Amino acid sequence: MKKAWSILPEEWKPILTERGMRAFRADQILQSLYRDYIGVWDEATTLPKDFREDLKREFPITAAEVLDVSESSDGTKKLLVGFEDGNSVETVLIPATGRFTQCISTQVGCAMGCVFCASGSQGVVRSLAADEIVAQYMLARKFGEITNIVVMGMGEPFANYDETMRALKLINAGKGPNLGARHITISTCGVVPGFARLASEGIQFELSVSLHAPNDALRSQLMPVNRRWPMDELLEACAAYTKATKRIITFEYTVIKGVNDSRRCAEELATAVKRVPMAKVNLIPLSPVSHRPDFKTPDESTMLMFLDVLMKSRIQTMLRRSRGKDADAACGQLRLRNLNQNKTRKE
Ligand code: SF4
Repeated sequence: MKKAWSILPEEWKPILTERGMRAFRADQILQSLYRDYIGVWDEATTLPKDFREDLKREFPITAAEVLDVSESSDGTKKLLVGFEDGNSVETVLIPATGRFTQCISTQVGCAMGCVFCASGSQGVVRSLAADEIVAQYMLARKFGEITNIVVMGMGEPFANYDETMRALKLINAGKGPNLGARHITISTCGVVPGFARLASEGIQFELSVSLHAPNDALRSQLMPVNRRWPMDELLEACAAYTKATKRIITFEYTVIKGVNDSRRCAEELATAVKRVPMAKVNLIPLSPVSHRPDFKTPDESTMLMFLDVLMKSRIQTMLRRSRGKDADAACGQLRLRNLNQNKTRKE
């Protein structure tokens, strides 16, 4: 059984034909799903009732619901989205002038084990199917028109490559939600085989890489993925990606007080990033994480020192703010809180 939110617009006609269903209805189906944004087939009143019954049976719409919303004083909203099997993921909505960005999840938990991350502290339960990734977008639309998506929530997108890519292609499709590819950013912790696969797609999604440390010794401590794909391999894959796609890679560097925040680290970071011809850096002060009280937010002066070192190396650098600190907005924290409170999907 195929879920409606996992079918790409161009697949509807052949799939309907294959099942002996009325293929000429494909455009009306797409209209109902992605212009009227129905949540159940019964709302598709432009379609005949008997056909709606067929659709319910053959292509159910994913049963997902918002279990919890936590809102931060800066307007960031964090939603806990529950699925039929009782699992849940987080998606975060971040308002800014002229933008409404959604951070979406690709897995329940995460196997990558980054030590500063609440999702990583729980391990991975399962990967999401494409329709469950799309469901996060569909539910979030009720809170406002989404202008940008960052695939930076729970999970490693390149560890769930096929389903993530299907979901993003659907959200990007002209006859789907039609969100521009350049408004969609995929973020990886450095799963190297994903770079060549993404380059071969020929789609203009943005790519960002969570670096968070400037050398192998420190990165392997903070991000176990570095033991599998060390920095040399990672930076080579990044350089090959920018060469093949002519697209910039953004390196994310979360500054953690007393851990990766020395001037030496800043200088090493500049040297590493310069190995990639088209690269920029986002510097982010760590949001406090409940499972690691020893990890602290750096001082403003440290952030400015990093900025200065990178700019002097002629690296395009942005200082980012941590958003939604009082909304459990560091990845995985809302789910962690709710698991602790035993909140599950309503039946
Ligand atoms: S930071 Fe990302 S890749 Fe690392 S454990 Fe958390 S969700 Fe996984």
